[in-house]
Amino acid sequence: METYDYEKLNRDFESKSSEEIIGWAVREFGPGLTMSTSFGAESAVLLHLVTQIKPDLPVLFTNTGFHFKETLAHRDALVKRLRLNLRELKPEMPTDEFLAKNGRLYEPDPDACCAVNKIAPFEKALKDYRAWITGIRRNQADTRKSSQFVENYRDRLVKINPLLNWTGKMFWDYAQKHGLPYHPLWEKGYLSIGCSPECCTRPVLGGENPRSGRWAGKAKTECGIQTFLKEEAASQTPK
Ligand code: SF4
Repeated sequence: METYDYEKLNRDFESKSSEEIIGWAVREFGPGLTMSTSFGAESAVLLHLVTQIKPDLPVLFTNTGFHFKETLAHRDALVKRLRLNLRELKPEMPTDEFLAKNGRLYEPDPDACCAVNKIAPFEKALKDYRAWITGIRRNQADTRKSSQFVENYRDRLVKINPLLNWTGKMFWDYAQKHGLPYHPLWEKGYLSIGCSPECCTRPVLGGENPRSGRWAGKAKTECGIQTFLKEEAASQTPK
């Protein structure tokens, strides 16, 4: 893989627009580039930005089998509106079978549930690419504060985070300006939307961090998709 001066790139990207960073990634990685989405509350913005520059970029979405029906409707609306080149990923074990074997594993052990239903299919799909664009922001959670625009993982994969410095207001201004569809649950206070079990996603109360509704009351703050390269979370697969 091509090597880069990541420190310099990240210094330079602090003053670049998201479009410029995405454009750099498209030029550098060509067919080796992908992006991921959760079709959550703010996903429409990155999908719109990317498809203005690279309309047929493969978009990875891990359908865990536990999504809100509103998320799947939002997915369908965005696929149609932006003509997304969607690559939908599914866990190896169908949801019915998973529930029959493990019950509501997401309640006592969400890490194990995420490892099987989210991270494993995503990690497998990522092997087809050299670089991956995500929509994380530094102000979403403490775990994301030190994120960089371009991150190199073991010289195997480059992660690109072009929205790091966006604020919530910037998202909504952009979505309004471009008439993008919004997630139906956003109006009900769901500011960060993952899977539908209440222990995984609940509405956010006034003044709370947008991600505080995810696995509320548990130490868990990330499903692992944004962190598995560092933490090898996939090794927590239930037996
Ligand atoms: S978010 Fe919840 S239901 Fe979804 S994979 Fe993780 S633990 Fe399972």
